[in-house]
Amino acid sequence: MLCALTFPHSFLRADGVEVHGVRTVGLCPVCDAENPAGRAVVSHFSNHGEVTSAHVDDVATLLREWSEEVVRSDVTAADVTAAL
Ligand SMILES: [Zn+2]
Repeated sequence: MLCALTFPHSFLRADGVEVHGVRTVGLCPVCDAENPAGRAVVSHFSNHGEVTSAHVDDVATLLREWSEEVVRSDVTAADVTAAL
């Protein structure tokens, strides 16, 4: 796993109770190969290795785009069901 995101997460249970928690999503070069934003992060690290001061802004942008992808796709009815 390359990196992981942890973010607040809540869902409504079948009995109407809203459950709050924290969710962690990892970035895997294999599993996330189909995700364009995830692939961009993976390919940056493939090309540049570790984060250097010259690339901090690039990495921040890529990670933000990936996080927007992950958090948005996370809030779906299918995932709420899976969380139960
Ligand atoms: Zn994987």
